[in-house]
Amino acid sequence: MIKKHINSYHSHTILCGHAGGRPIDYVKEAIKHNFKELGISEHAPMANLRNKNSRLHEKDYQKYFKLLDEAKKFASLNNIKFYKGLEIEYFNHTKVYEHYLNDLDYLILGQHYIYKDNKYISTFKFNTLEEIIIYRDTVIEALKTGYFNMLCHPDLCFFNIDNPTDEMYEALRPVIKLAKKLDIPLELNANGIRRAVLEGKVTEFSNIKYPRVKFFEMVAEEGAKVIISSDAHNVAALNDFAILESYKMAEDLNLNVIYKLKMNYFKK
Ligand SMILES: [Zn+2]
Ligand SMILES: [Zn+2]
Repeated sequence: MIKKHINSYHSHTILCGHAGGRPIDYVKEAIKHNFKELGISEHAPMANLRNKNSRLHEKDYQKYFKLLDEAKKFASLNNIKFYKGLEIEYFNHTKVYEHYLNDLDYLILGQHYIYKDNKYISTFKFNTLEEIIIYRDTVIEALKTGYFNMLCHPDLCFFNIDNPTDEMYEALRPVIKLAKKLDIPLELNANGIRRAVLEGKVTEFSNIKYPRVKFFEMVAEEGAKVIISSDAHNVAALNDFAILESYKMAEDLNLNVIYKLKMNYFKK
């Protein structure tokens, strides 16, 4: 596979509380790697979700824009196309998406929580098929809104489950089919590989919590599009060993990899 990793759309900044780097620092790193396009996608403020060190604070929203504008200027001087984004969860009782899309170029869907019995449950803590089905249905509803141009780490729902059953995997097949139909790429998330390697927990792809080989075998069967992204939480991660490993995994699994994210899903 020819590696054409010259575009990147999933990165986080100092403002979420668990990442490093300002948008302009990512531009500087992108220049080093001859990138053509760069998008910054901080974790969106969400009033209902736990805020501590996990996402942009509402009060920093304008500051985020200032930093994005500064980065965009610098990017254009260096012939890099720069996009302003957010990574965000979808809940049908939350009406922030069109508001954000008025300000931004794109939203990527990172469903880190589901809503069940008036409670939010972390996707990192699922145990049951029932939770996976709620996750599946939430993601399907989200993709149909047209607000999102990428589905981040679609297989994150298996994070806490060592050996998901066939039924659990198959529960996600409709997500893959819908993504294909709507031409929305599924993300093969390099941060899952990065974390596993840095924590010294993994020697083989088959042992990684996400991306899961078995899930991406289904993606290959369905022929849905896949985009590899860093999910960078510091600038050095923009184009590192985990990106290379991700392309290896994609090649092993014969995935239909794309490189450029469409910015025009949502029609105002
Ligand atoms: Zn993060
Ligand atoms: Zn992310």
